[in-house]
Amino acid sequence: MKYKIVNINETGERSVLIIYTGGTFGMVQDASGALAPFNFGKVVDRVPELRQLSTRLTVISFPKPIDSSNILIQDWKDMVYIIEENYAQYDAFVILHGTDTMAYSASMLSYMLEGLNKPVILTGAQMPIGSIRSDARENLITALEIASAHNEGRPIISEVCVYFNHLLLRGSRSQKLRSSTFAAFESENYPVLAEAGIEIEYNYAALKPYNSKAKLTVKKHLDPNVIILKIFPGITQHAVRSILGDPEVKGIVLESFGSGNAMKFEWFTKCLKEAIDEGKIILNVSQCIGGEVEQGKYETSKDLNKIGVLSGGDITTEAAVTKMMFLLGAEIDKDKLKHLLKHSLAGEMDTVWE
Ligand code: ASP
Repeated sequence: MKYKIVNINETGERSVLIIYTGGTFGMVQDASGALAPFNFGKVVDRVPELRQLSTRLTVISFPKPIDSSNILIQDWKDMVYIIEENYAQYDAFVILHGTDTMAYSASMLSYMLEGLNKPVILTGAQMPIGSIRSDARENLITALEIASAHNEGRPIISEVCVYFNHLLLRGSRSQKLRSSTFAAFESENYPVLAEAGIEIEYNYAALKPYNSKAKLTVKKHLDPNVIILKIFPGITQHAVRSILGDPEVKGIVLESFGSGNAMKFEWFTKCLKEAIDEGKIILNVSQCIGGEVEQGKYETSKDLNKIGVLSGGDITTEAAVTKMMFLLGAEIDKDKLKHLLKHSLAGEMDTVWE
C-alpha cells in the first residue's frame, strides 16, 4: 500500500507518528451534503498549532481515508504494520480514527501489539475539524501531549488508549456510548486513566506498568468467523438456530441479560449445546454497560455453566468480539484458547494482566 507521509514539525525532544485513517475528524460535505473523509494535508492547515508543539511530528495517511464504519480486518493489519515498521523511530503513536468503531480498533490493536511499551492513542472527533465548534482540535492536541508525556525518560503511557473529550481511557475497556454529545466514550468497568483539565491528571494506579524489557511482537493472524448473538424477549428458535448453525462460525459472543442470564427454555439450551458440541466456542457477555457476568448466580444462567458456555466477566462486546477473532487466528489449542478467553490479555477484563 502507498502511504502519504508529511513532516509537520521537525524540532522537539520527543517524536510522535500520527496515523490518519479517516473519520469525521477530517471530513467535509460532499456535493450531496453527506460527510466524507478528505486528505490530511488540509487537516494540518486547520490546526496550525501543530507546528508550534515542542514535539517532532510526522503524519502517515491511509491512501484513501475511510469512514470507520467501513473498517476491515485488513485495516487493523495496516495500522499495526505501520506501528511495527516505525516502532524504533518514534516515541509514540496517535491514530486518528472515526468514532463509530474506534472501541473495536482500540481493543484489537491492544491484542495485536503484544509487548508494547510505548503509547498508542486513538482519537477522533464528533464534529469535523472545519466546523467552528469542532472537538477535533482539542482531542488531537491533548492526545499528542499525552503521547509525548514522559517521566525520567520513560513514557507515562505504555498501552493502547482512547483519548476523547478530556478523558484518557484504556482502549480495550472503551465503548462509544453516545453519538450526539462530545462525551462519546466511557470505560464503565475500568477507571479513567487520565483527565485533562488545566493540568492532565494521571491515575497512575490504573495505568499499565511500564516494562523496559518488553519487546514488541506484532500478531497479525486474525479469524473473522465470529458472530454476536444478542438475545431479547421473544427471540425465535428459528433465528437462534440460523445464527448458531452457520457452519463457518467458530466463535459466538452471547450478549445476555444482566449478570449473564438467558432464557431457561429447553430449545435454547439445546441450541447452545449443539453449537458447543460441534466445536464452537461461546463467550457470555452482558448487555449491560457496567457490571459483570456471573454464571450460576441465577437459575437462568446455571445451565450455561453446565453446557460449557464461557463467562466473559466484565469484558465489553467490542473487546470480546475482537478477542475471539484474535485468539481463533492464533495457532493455539482449544484448551489454551478457552483459558485465555477467561483471562486478561491486554487489561480488557478484570483478571490479572498476564
Ligand atoms: N462515521 C464516522 C466514523 O466513524 C463517525 C465519526 O468519526 O465520528 O468514521
